[in-house]
Order: sequence, then C-alpha cells, then structure tokens
Amino acid sequence: MECIFCNIKDRKAEAEIIFEDEHILAFLDIQPINYGHTLVIPKKHYDNFLTVPKDEIDRLTHATQFIAGIVKRSLNADGFNIISNNGHSAGQSVFHFHFHIIRRFNNDFSLRPALKNYNAGSMKDYGEKIRSFISKYEDIYNG
Ligand code: 5GP
Ligand code: ZN
Repeated sequence: MECIFCNIKDRKAEAEIIFEDEHILAFLDIQPINYGHTLVIPKKHYDNFLTVPKDEIDRLTHATQFIAGIVKRSLNADGFNIISNNGHSAGQSVFHFHFHIIRRFNNDFSLRPALKNYNAGSMKDYGEKIRSFISKYEDIYNG
C-alpha cells in the first residue's frame, strides 16, 4: 500500500529533513501546529505504536529525546509536546508510526480536552479490568 512517509524516506516525495541515521528519519510536518513541528519516524514501516518492535522503540525514543531538545533550543520554545496518535479515533491520519514533536510557547496551549470525573468506585473497576489483562499478558512485557 502507498505510504507517504515511506515515500519521503525513499526520497520519492519531498520533505524538509532535519535528521537521519540508519534507522530513523525526522522531518518537518507539512501542516504544523507551531512552526518547527517535527515528525520522527522509523525508516521501516510499522502501522502504529503497538506493532513497533522493542529495539526500534528504544532507538525512536532516544532520537525523539535528542531532536526535541534540539528543536526547543534552536527555535527558542518554552516547551514541547511529544504526541503519538494511534488509530482513526485518536486522530491518526498517516499509518506509518511517528512521534510528533510540537514546540510550545507560554499561553499558546489550545489542546485542552474536556476532562471527566470518575463516579464512586468506578476508578477501582477500571483499574481492576486493566490489571486483569496485565496479568494475562505479562509474558509479552517480560519478553
Ligand atoms: P497523524 O495525524 O497520523 O498523527 O500525523 C500525520 C502528520 O503527517 C500530520 O500532522 C500531517 O500534517 C503530516 N503529513 C501528512 N502528509 C505529509 C507530507 O506529505 N509531508 C509532511 N512533511 N508531512 C505530512
Ligand atoms: Zn510507511
């Protein structure tokens, strides 16, 4: 299937590339929330966070930390968001896994979702449900 980020990696599509190594590519988002908004991708195609192998996640996290620091310093941001959208419902539009690095300035933060409150006891119910799956899938975590 055609993938715009694979095309950027293969230089079949243009992008403003800011960093590259054997495994990672970072380039500017074409429709930034703030100028300098950067995307960090593994060169290999994985659909989303859940399908990226551990060694790739380690490299991506390391590269994203490095590039976030560089973006913040070079463009004098006050802060930044590291975001990953996974699935249509979460706003994912390109199904090649990526981290967003979004530079932020004091008072420009407009991504505040409406927050919910738990009803009495329901936080415990959610906790129990999630923990029951953790015990079921713990082997995956422990490798
Ligand atoms: P998602 O919505 O999947 O979390 O993020 C995809 C991001 O890729 C969007 O912010 C979008 O602006 C960016 N994007 C989509 N197509 C292109 C493109 O052709 N070039 C670049 N540089 N960014 C793109
Ligand atoms: Zn791809």
